[in-house]
Amino acid sequence: MSCVNSSVCKLCRRENMKLFLKGDRCFTDKCAFERRPYPPGQHGQSRLKFSEFALQLREKQKAKRYYGLSEKQFHKYFEMADQSKEITGNALLKFLELRLDNVVYTLGFASSRREARQLISHNHFLVNGKRVNIPSFIVNKGDVVEVSQSSKEMGKVQTAIQAVARRTIPSWLEANHAAFKGTVKDLPSRDEVTIPVEESMIVEYYSR
Ligand code: SF4
Repeated sequence: MSCVNSSVCKLCRRENMKLFLKGDRCFTDKCAFERRPYPPGQHGQSRLKFSEFALQLREKQKAKRYYGLSEKQFHKYFEMADQSKEITGNALLKFLELRLDNVVYTLGFASSRREARQLISHNHFLVNGKRVNIPSFIVNKGDVVEVSQSSKEMGKVQTAIQAVARRTIPSWLEANHAAFKGTVKDLPSRDEVTIPVEESMIVEYYSR
């Protein structure tokens, strides 16, 4: 079917992990990675030896694609993390998790991060009662994210909420789907960030 051969599914197979780029389909047996969990291409199933650099590059690509960012955007977060007082890798993941598009998706108000970005850009979300249409907006502890009143009946939002049982909402977020809102209870600790990535290798990649 189209998903199996589509380019975004190839990204999952390339990175050897589910990046959840296709919304609800990612949780079904139509998932291309579930069917063919090896890299695409002629040598996909060969055992290749990777250099240290190649491994670092893959970890960076994995995180960048998981959050759906361009190289320029991703590098900006690395620079912000590098200037913070925290361990750079932890700070990097924290910035990525706190993006509004990631929060909207993680709370279950959109089926994918890409869809969350689109909904936010089209003015469907409020943060602390004010409209925010910037997907890269960084939320803070205590912030309340909610679907705007006129968007509660939207098909995309309704579909995402209906499928929310398939997701695990991390403890740093609290969702109230009946009220179409969620709260950032705390800032995410490393243990609560579930992306299986070696952030220290990303730091090494950019520190070459
Ligand atoms: Fe495609 Fe989603 Fe499966 Fe990735 S996780 S291969 S995007 S269906």
